[in-house]
Amino acid sequence: MKNLLNVLGQFCAGHLLDEKIFIVPSYLTGHQIGEELARSGRSWVNLRFVTLPSLAMEIAGTELSSQGLQQISGTATRVLINHIFRELKEGSKLLYYKDLEAQAGIIDVISRSIRDLRGAGIKSVDLHTDQFIDKDKGHETQLILKRYEEELESGKFFDTPLLYKTAAEIAIKSRANSGRHYLCLQDQIFSKVEREFLDFLTEDLLLVPHGKVVGMARPRRMIQVEVKEQKALVPKTNLERAPWLFTMKNAPAPFKDNTLEMFQAVGPTNECKEVLRRIFTEKIPFDRVEIIHPGGVVYPSIFFVLSEKMGFSFSSSEGLPLNFTVPGKVFSGIIDWMENDYPVSDLCRLLESESLKTPKDEEGKSLSSLKISRTLKEAKIGWGMDRYIHRLKVLYREKKSKTEDHAERLTEINKIKGWTKSVLDLFPVWEEEKIDIDDLCVGISSFLKKFCRVRDSRDGDALGKITSRLDEASSFKAISFSKDEAVEWLRSTVDSLSVGNAGPKPGSLYLSSYREGGYSGREFSFIVGLDQGAVPGSRLPDPILLDEEREDISEDLSVTSDRLRENLYLMTALLSSLSGQAVLSFPSYDVFEERPSFPSSFLLQVFRLIEGNVELDYSVLMESLGESSGFVGGVEVDETGWWLDVIAGDGRFKDAKKSLKNLYPFIANGDLARGKRAGPDLSTYDGLVMISREECNPLKKKDLSMSASRIEKLARCPYGYFLRYVLGVLPPDEIEIDKAAWLDGLERGSLLHDILCVFMRGLRERGESVGEKDFREEIRRVAEKVMELYREENPPPSEAVFEKERREIFGALDIFLKAEEKREEKVEPILFEVNFGFEGEKGEGISESVILEIGPGISFRLKGKIDRIDRKGRGSYRVIDYKTGSYKAYENIKAFGKGKSLQHALYAEAAERILKEKKIDEAARVTVTGYSFPTGRGDGREILIENFDRARLKELLLDLFAVLEKGYFLVNPKASCDFCDYGVVCGKDVITRTKEKIETNAEQFAVFDRLEEFE
Ligand code: SF4
Repeated sequence: MKNLLNVLGQFCAGHLLDEKIFIVPSYLTGHQIGEELARSGRSWVNLRFVTLPSLAMEIAGTELSSQGLQQISGTATRVLINHIFRELKEGSKLLYYKDLEAQAGIIDVISRSIRDLRGAGIKSVDLHTDQFIDKDKGHETQLILKRYEEELESGKFFDTPLLYKTAAEIAIKSRANSGRHYLCLQDQIFSKVEREFLDFLTEDLLLVPHGKVVGMARPRRMIQVEVKEQKALVPKTNLERAPWLFTMKNAPAPFKDNTLEMFQAVGPTNECKEVLRRIFTEKIPFDRVEIIHPGGVVYPSIFFVLSEKMGFSFSSSEGLPLNFTVPGKVFSGIIDWMENDYPVSDLCRLLESESLKTPKDEEGKSLSSLKISRTLKEAKIGWGMDRYIHRLKVLYREKKSKTEDHAERLTEINKIKGWTKSVLDLFPVWEEEKIDIDDLCVGISSFLKKFCRVRDSRDGDALGKITSRLDEASSFKAISFSKDEAVEWLRSTVDSLSVGNAGPKPGSLYLSSYREGGYSGREFSFIVGLDQGAVPGSRLPDPILLDEEREDISEDLSVTSDRLRENLYLMTALLSSLSGQAVLSFPSYDVFEERPSFPSSFLLQVFRLIEGNVELDYSVLMESLGESSGFVGGVEVDETGWWLDVIAGDGRFKDAKKSLKNLYPFIANGDLARGKRAGPDLSTYDGLVMISREECNPLKKKDLSMSASRIEKLARCPYGYFLRYVLGVLPPDEIEIDKAAWLDGLERGSLLHDILCVFMRGLRERGESVGEKDFREEIRRVAEKVMELYREENPPPSEAVFEKERREIFGALDIFLKAEEKREEKVEPILFEVNFGFEGEKGEGISESVILEIGPGISFRLKGKIDRIDRKGRGSYRVIDYKTGSYKAYENIKAFGKGKSLQHALYAEAAERILKEKKIDEAARVTVTGYSFPTGRGDGREILIENFDRARLKELLLDLFAVLEKGYFLVNPKASCDFCDYGVVCGKDVITRTKEKIETNAEQFAVFDRLEEFE
């Protein structure tokens, strides 16, 4: 840097008031040079920093726009190349490239080759097929370039090479009397058109050196300078010997100082932590440190995470990746949402992360994101754009009839429906599996502008960058993409964006890339990431324009060896531009790939320079580097490191459980629960609890209506009952996405029930019964109508899926008709859909619950829904419940299925009271009750229980309700956990654990033995 400031300072002093234009690779670099020049005490005026493209635009912009031309952006170029490639491929014009798909990666490498050709001043007419390894390839590359030129011309666009060419033509005319001085950083890489522009711009371009490089040939794409005698160079430190890195035999002897050091670390994170350790240990002020890393956002991301944890600040020339911002997260969330066919879970995740703006309620407050998410999940949308509004309407209808405080809730649902609609309206519908990418870009851009939350300036920066890139793409060419292509293209379009790019700031660490580093003037530099992949870089040639083809086409096209040489030269120049102290490092282990990584040859060369011995090899280097800096050891810079150091300080892990539990009470509670469950005694964690009987016992709590399934659940596993009905623990409401199914089990059951109900009511009204004639056509007509209603509320994922389920429903109806026809005993169906205990939804039943007496003065309320009541004969009735699953679980029931199948018995009791209440039969007696299985899985069977023992039912219910009374919510040792929602709460070994406690807690487990007697 000193070198640069001396040359620049002298020039400024000698041309104090003249206009001086300094061409730099980026404005960030220019800004740093200007600051350092001022800080070094040199005065300068009328010095302006520009980049080469901005200078060309300054010169030629007016002329080009007066010709009606506009600049084509990088994004638009990708769209154009994509369009050209598809057009040629679809027109069967490609033979050599015919197997390549127009994927983002392929389009990027083709675009790069076109850019290189144009940058070397090559036109399509300059290409010949014999310059390529394959004539077809040559012809097709020429064709792509020709189409590109035509599109630029017909669309009135200009690209950067054309900009330079025009600027050069204008500059040559006025350069004699421009009065300007042009300066340029000496070690910049230029394409041919850029070099020509510089040649035409001025005859006296002053090349300003940054870092000195001795004895190394300048790469051919740099402006060549006369090599001056280097005698004046007298290094005083090892770092100042860096110019001789690759000509060590002429290098001055090494110094015994610490100005050039190196280390290795286990992965980039530990590398960054070691940098911080050294800064802390040596008490170096942050704003005297520059950390120079390979391009990209890996290292800035690590420093971001560390800075958030530790509270220090840093700035980064490369910025941070988009996914550290809300708009970046929302953008990738939205792409995933579209890619997966709009699953509600993806949208809910975005809402739950508070990333989206939500609608306002009546009082002008934003509706909570969590509330919207819960409502969307409750609506059972699942997936698919066209299901959202349908399902929200269904939810609205359901709530309208059920919710107690429904006015407020209904308004809420309506608002959420409106909000969801306005979101969905922004996204185009996929038609015939293709979509115009411009529509998609407009939609996503509008969505982000309207709904994405912006919390700080970084978010604002991200939102601006993403939307402007999408807007650029949308305003160019309409290309139809398949869904996969579109999502890949969208992702790659914003992939290269970063946010918060900034130069050095007071009080902050500064991170710069290898390409932009060394201009901050800071005295302490760390060059990190020097593994074998970083410098000199990949040896893979360009996959489209091969090196041998490039050499044949033009000497102005770069080849792989140029790139490697340039990288080595620039790194040497960077190192020798630094002053003070430099520490170099590399990550010795790839934590993600789980394999070691090795140092760059550049690092070996620096090691040889430090040691003054050109013979040294990698083994000596590795030995000298010592142990890799890792997760523990040394000065710890963050909480994690401190913890690890404390518990593993002497090389062995200590037991940190006690401290952990002190710090995290929930972990302590979990550990206590696990311990108690593992012991021989019963505890709260096994379900032995003291709770208010008034609250959970239906015999005491008179407004509590029990359902048959709730009582059965108590018999199956009181612990599960406790979780569900006492603690109110519910499995997550998110519904599984099964795109191969239209209706889930419950919905399919309810559809079949509705069809049978409508059909049977029709027969009853006409006084007909199954078996009198063929009702196949009629029941199918009914089914079609009912299915249509279901379909409106619950659109199927595809016609094929709908058709499959339609056939299954028809099959079930055939089974039903056959089962009805072959019944020997004829019955008269009299009531269907007999509800009780559901206000406003009584069907053919009653609104109130049924009160069942199970002992003198002991009763409880029961609610439920009886599918069908048949009259068997005078005063004798039959109760039937349709089941759409298998009959297996009911096969061995004699009367009560050990308490696990009580519905038929409870419904028999309820049916008698309903028949009396409805004045159908004051002396009604249900003599048969059971289940019908009218589907393929149920094989058309009926399982019926005749005249069960009513007194035994009462005994059974008293035993069961005693569990609630005593608070014995224990695991049933015979529970089937495989299909239970609470498996994850109870653990895999719950039954084994429970069985071990039976012997010492016989009284509490006695109920389960008694249940065995109620077969
Ligand atoms: S997982 Fe097993 S023990 Fe746990 S609640 Fe369910 S049935 Fe009971």
